[in-house]
Amino acid sequence: MESAAGVSPDERDWLERKYPGWNDTYGRYWDVVTENARAGRFSATEGKGMPCLCNMCQHSITGMGGTRWDARVYQTTYNERRFNFCGKVCQWIFELDPERYADSETLVDRIYSGEIDTSTPEGLLKYMGIGVISEGGKDATDFAWARKGRDLAAAAE
Ligand SMILES: [Zn+2]
Repeated sequence: MESAAGVSPDERDWLERKYPGWNDTYGRYWDVVTENARAGRFSATEGKGMPCLCNMCQHSITGMGGTRWDARVYQTTYNERRFNFCGKVCQWIFELDPERYADSETLVDRIYSGEIDTSTPEGLLKYMGIGVISEGGKDATDFAWARKGRDLAAAAE
């Protein structure tokens, strides 16, 4: 494997062999990223806003790609506060002992409370190492993985 971030056709084949159904689950997401890269729309491959983070595992709540693209958030209200979860499992863990987790905050919660001092969304993305301002949002191989199977220069013409 040569790509540091992307998923080339060879890697997708490998993932499908190792994890049957991978393309159905995640392929559509990478189709969108790949097509944006091939068309030179690199800004479309970068995060633009505040992610909604799971109150249990802190993972961004993005749902699944592919034929089962069904991004949704699972929510529980406890002590008049709404908690967001990436899935039923994280929600279930929280609901087993809500008092244990009720005071925990996501990174985004800490931004809004002022615990993390960022005055703009771009500042948050930079803090997280993603986005247009930092190098974190840039592909380490300049999207070389996206060129496989199709020439970027030909696509631009
Ligand atoms: Zn979660």
